[in-house]
Amino acid sequence: MYTSQSHEYDVVIMGAGFAGICQARHLMLNIPNIKVALIDPRPEERTDKDLKVGESLVEVSSLFVTKELGLYEYMIENHTPKFGLNFHWPKDPARTETIDDYLSIWDNRQPSITTFHMNRSKFERDVLQMNKEMGAVFYNGRVLDVDLTPGDAIKTVKSKVNGEVIEIKAKHVIDAAGRRFIIGNKTNNLIFNQVGGGEGSDNLYGVNNGSAWLRVRNMDRSLFHDGYDPTSATASHWYATNHWFGHGHWLWMIPTSTDPLELSIGVIHHHEVIPSEQINTREKFLAFLKANHTHLYKLITSGEQIDFHYLPRVAHSSKMVFSPDNWYVLGDAAYIFDAFYSYGATMISFAAESITEIIRAKLAGEANAEQKRFAFNEFNLTMARSANGVMRYHAKQLGNASVMSWRIYFEYMWWFGIILPLFIGKRHLDITFVPQFTQAFSANIDGVLADVHKQFNQLDRGTNLGILDCYRADQLIGEYYTSKRFDDYLENAKYEPGRTNIFASIKSAYYYVAIWYTMFQWKGFGLAGLLAPRSLYNIFRLLALSSYTAIGELIYRFQTRNLPANSQVEKMRQEFKNYQYQAQLQPWTPEIDSPCTDQQSSEQAVPRLPELSVLS
Ligand SMILES: Cc1cc2nc3c(=O)[nH]c(=O)nc-3n(C[C@H](O)[C@H](O)[C@H](O)COP(=O)(O)OP(=O)(O)OC[C@H]3O[C@@H](n4cnc5c(N)ncnc54)[C@H](O)[C@@H]3O)c2cc1C
Repeated sequence: MYTSQSHEYDVVIMGAGFAGICQARHLMLNIPNIKVALIDPRPEERTDKDLKVGESLVEVSSLFVTKELGLYEYMIENHTPKFGLNFHWPKDPARTETIDDYLSIWDNRQPSITTFHMNRSKFERDVLQMNKEMGAVFYNGRVLDVDLTPGDAIKTVKSKVNGEVIEIKAKHVIDAAGRRFIIGNKTNNLIFNQVGGGEGSDNLYGVNNGSAWLRVRNMDRSLFHDGYDPTSATASHWYATNHWFGHGHWLWMIPTSTDPLELSIGVIHHHEVIPSEQINTREKFLAFLKANHTHLYKLITSGEQIDFHYLPRVAHSSKMVFSPDNWYVLGDAAYIFDAFYSYGATMISFAAESITEIIRAKLAGEANAEQKRFAFNEFNLTMARSANGVMRYHAKQLGNASVMSWRIYFEYMWWFGIILPLFIGKRHLDITFVPQFTQAFSANIDGVLADVHKQFNQLDRGTNLGILDCYRADQLIGEYYTSKRFDDYLENAKYEPGRTNIFASIKSAYYYVAIWYTMFQWKGFGLAGLLAPRSLYNIFRLLALSSYTAIGELIYRFQTRNLPANSQVEKMRQEFKNYQYQAQLQPWTPEIDSPCTDQQSSEQAVPRLPELSVLS
């Protein structure tokens, strides 16, 4: 049946998974009276069958969900906490019976920004309900087609809802329907790995991976760790995202519920080392664990298994994410490369904020709206490329504890020093900052980051760089650790756009990356490596970027010299100028209007003298 009944909105979001519901809420929180519709075929009451991966948040995605979407209390009350990332490599791949058979890097203290694990089906169900309460219209149906008209012309989303075909119209259309690729397929916008893929492939930096995972409940947690480790950490080992490594693969272990105790355990495997047909069923996955991570096998089989999934192809990307024709691809509909570092929700956070700002500027008819669209499109594609780039050569390097510990330390430096401050400072929405940043960062991805990843492949098999612990401050110089300087500007609550001195953090990050890089060349390749022209070029370039950012910092300081760090704090300080303590209480007993009904409450209602007024 076809109905011509018309439904018109400012924005239609196709897909109400994590990306779609977060985008809807962000739009409604930031653009007053915006009319938003969501379409998704899955029922609103999502069951265990909807258990999805994407359960681990990191600093950016956690801040997006808690601070930007206003869901702090909701997250604390409904999902499990997360205390950083732990990393484990077998000392001997033939012996993996207990945690003691692994070399481990443990997060040793509480992270300065709270992060969470989430039960995705619960999150999506709850936030969809909140969106409806805020005014979003939800169509429980399936998008059949979308008419991508040019420019500002109204777009039509043809959908099947309750057996009827309806037309939903809007100026802006967001594809958040995951791997359905509604817009991607229609516009030939997708990038997949070349046939055969693997190392040497130009697309997706050769990342060619698949994934198998399952959930297990009520397992014997002590098979992982007994929880007693008073001399090593102030943070829980269990409520971290634990990572287990081996040749051509890594595994995650994420606690997604406390009652019942529930775990998500899965593997990302690289096809050139572990082909699909060796791991694509529950039985094969368990057999793989029994042989390669015996203690995880024991942990799983001590509990009740809930589900099993296999995804043969994880990585893909897009040529464009925000079109001049008012269509947008978001979340899995746009790109995903690997689950390592939980980049999925992070990239959604950057993109969702960008989309809101483009739509806000376009609906308001602002002159630079298209300029923003162009710059934010480039920026988000660059962020995606960097997320893709940090997975380069994983197939060869994941199992090597020394190499990976150095890689993780190195990649943490960029994360805490550059990407996280950028997000907190909202510089990704700053139209003067974004183009410069995109250009410099893009050069880093193909420059020093690519060089380092490649050089790890070139190390002699016998070279042992030792282990670098990304949480400790006794390995580089000056008591530096990877998250040391990143939040200096947060002490004074400088969260307002334009007030955050992220230049200090970036300057320091480039400087310490130069030190790390020098140490890496020396330890890995000796004097010849250090003095190689390419190494000298990278060291001088990093130091030049640090100096350049220092100039940016001076300009920033000059421009903000008369601005308070935070306008709310400033307002309160002003109010304090006229503040005088008044030691008094307002009379209240005559106000009592409900008569007491029982003995206890009549005792409580006996009027008492306000003691403070007596003291004064
Ligand atoms: C193995 C693995 C592990 C991961 N782990 C993490 C992690 O720990 N942390 C992290 O941040 N990221 C992680 N990710 C990435 C994360 O899963 C994705 O970023 C995230 O799930 C993307 O959400 P989404 O809303 O775009 O897609 P989805 O969650 O797939 O939502 C798409 C929605 O579109 C709907 N839909 C489908 N077809 C239609 C249609 N025709 N019309 C309308 N609606 C439709 C679907 O019903 C669904 O609700 C992981 C990814 C993988 C593969």
